[in-house]
Amino acid sequence: MQSRHDPDATALAETQPDPATAAAVQREALRAMIDREERVKPAHLCALALMLIGSALLSDPFWVLVAIALRFVSLAVTRWSTRRMLQAIEAKTPLNQNIATLCGALVMAGASWAGLILSVPANANSIAALAIDSVAVMGAALVIITYGPLRSAMTAFAASFVVTAGLVGVVLLGHLSPITFAVLAMLILGAVLFSKGMAEHNGDAAHLLVENRKLSSQLTLALERAEKLAWRDPLTDLWNRRAFFETYRDGLEPGTTRVFLTIDIDHFKRINDAFGHAAGDTVIKAVAHQMTTLEGALAYQGSHRSVRLGGEEFVMVLEEHNLASAEEAAERLRTMIRFIPEKFGLDPRIRVSASIGVAEQQPDETLDDVLRRSDLAMFRAKDRGRNQVACAA
Ligand code: GH3
Ligand code: MG
Ligand code: MG
Repeated sequence: MQSRHDPDATALAETQPDPATAAAVQREALRAMIDREERVKPAHLCALALMLIGSALLSDPFWVLVAIALRFVSLAVTRWSTRRMLQAIEAKTPLNQNIATLCGALVMAGASWAGLILSVPANANSIAALAIDSVAVMGAALVIITYGPLRSAMTAFAASFVVTAGLVGVVLLGHLSPITFAVLAMLILGAVLFSKGMAEHNGDAAHLLVENRKLSSQLTLALERAEKLAWRDPLTDLWNRRAFFETYRDGLEPGTTRVFLTIDIDHFKRINDAFGHAAGDTVIKAVAHQMTTLEGALAYQGSHRSVRLGGEEFVMVLEEHNLASAEEAAERLRTMIRFIPEKFGLDPRIRVSASIGVAEQQPDETLDDVLRRSDLAMFRAKDRGRNQVACAA
């Protein structure tokens, strides 16, 4: 019995693709196969031309023309079933039924290629016989190589070709000598073996394509994540300075209003000094929490944003507010900050308060200018004794 930590078993598990990847690889391999089938169309036309020339050299071309007509019908059926499979590949629907239909079409195709060889009369002109027989063998080989990635379809074709030639040509009509049949069968076997190698190569290419696609989408996600992290303050998860300036540097859109609250925790250094840096961090996070709580409570009134500019300094941006409604919101925030020790179960000796400056951005006023005014208002609040709100003139 294999141990749970058998390295070989682990390596094997790692190389086994998950079902979704396996299905994607199959789709890509079949898509490439259908693409190749499309590209060999000129070869089919050349084969047809050669067969018509061959039949023109015959004294009695009736059965050859019948066989060519059957080839045409079979070609149309095969093309119809490959088109349907392509649609299923694009729609990412299960392919089992399409594969079965294609196998049926290729059974018919195998019989029709063999039928061409059998339709050449025994006493035919040797050049005509050579033209028709070689086209039939090469055409069959081409089909086998093209459909190699779909082993069931390729096998169905090769088996149908060989069985038709053997049963009808050797047993029923006695048209082919056993030696000729054996040579024919060997040629088909050669094409099958070559096709297997091609199919493996094709499968590797499809696997690589799917893996590359997966890696590329993982990279996009990682970049999005990195971009998001670059916009966030790691301690509070609020927007950081960079996000703030990139978002608001362009000034006001006509017809909109925006008010800036500059919030600075009072005597924060004393909290750090008396209760330690960790307690200081807890207070910073608690202030951020109160800001986002208020942001949520005001969401009915426009979209707002809380930002940590750095240290114990924050900004809150209130959209669709005027100075009076923003002052009310600032007053609410000031009270919420005051209740932090109680609400967050901190040491009751910690006193938390903040001074808040409020400034409404004027049309054509730059971000720097309105921030300067809200900063000045905040310093006025400090001067007046802290734990209060002051509005810019
Ligand atoms: P004022 O009322 O005048 O604003 O006084 P203050 O003590 O709050 O202001 P001051 O600028 O003197 O001190 C701010 C302190 O904030 C200094 C710095 O060590 C501390 N600080 C800055 N960033 C952090 C941080 O991320 N965590 C902690 N715990 N402290 C920080
Ligand atoms: Mg400060
Ligand atoms: Mg401070």
